[in-house]
Amino acid sequence: MASVPPAAVEALATAERVTVLTGAGVSAESGIPTFRDGPDGPDGPDGLWARYDPAELATPEAFARDPGLVWRWYEWRRDLVSRARPNPAHRALADLERYCPSLILITQNVDALHQAAGSRAPLQLHGNIHRNRCSREGMLIEPDAADTRVPPACPHCGARLRPDVVWFGEPLRSEVLDAAVEAARTADVFIAAGTSSLVHPAAGLAEQAGANGATIIEINPNVTPLTGRAHYVLAARAASALAALVQALSETGGG
Ligand code: NAD
Repeated sequence: MASVPPAAVEALATAERVTVLTGAGVSAESGIPTFRDGPDGPDGPDGLWARYDPAELATPEAFARDPGLVWRWYEWRRDLVSRARPNPAHRALADLERYCPSLILITQNVDALHQAAGSRAPLQLHGNIHRNRCSREGMLIEPDAADTRVPPACPHCGARLRPDVVWFGEPLRSEVLDAAVEAARTADVFIAAGTSSLVHPAAGLAEQAGANGATIIEINPNVTPLTGRAHYVLAARAASALAALVQALSETGGG
């Protein structure tokens, strides 16, 4: 397990409000590749989708240009996500809720693995890959099983269905973003785990927490724009670092 600075554990043990932001790195050890770390996913670098750049497929422009390609890519990702299981990082965060009942978990991940691990109600900033919505009217809707079109059409208005995820360049749902900003601004401790701190507006949450006096803990094996501003940096993988943090917290008997 990663080593944890005792002062970081102390900050967590005495915090009234804890906010956690997770990114794709937290699910990497469940076998779901991050976008940023390249195509070496479970299919390997020669996999069917390795030659496509996710940052170009996960956009409204790509969907307008070639909706079938984007839909098929999401079918592949859904299959990958459906086979994935929560890892010790997801489980540690679910445990952390027991020590810190006011904890608010914000995730950029669309894989719903936090819920699978037992986290109560994460704020899903970028949506949920298991759901679909009408690309014209926005409401959540499931395709008709008999519809073989790629992508299938909305049974109400005939527009294309799309995954219920926020693509690069799209705005976040305002009620989810507002709740996340409030959680950041009121946090005593803000943990950013497995996120590059490059994708806005999520990347601004740590900044807002810090500006309001929160202790910032970053968990990431790589340096990010947040690293220099964090009070504590656990430069380790999320599974080992979060498990160590929660273990150390349990040993203080606090939270
Ligand atoms: P990101 O910006 O959150 O970057 C991933 C970060 O994880 C990097 O900084 C990397 O250093 C770090 N990392 C890698 N392995 C790690 C580990 N084992 N432990 C801790 N940190 C680790 O995410 P992205 O890949 O650029 O994706 C952008 C957006 O795409 C996400 O915000 C999300 O909406 C979507 N996405 C979701 C998933 C998912 O749901 N699992 C996966 C990929 C992308």
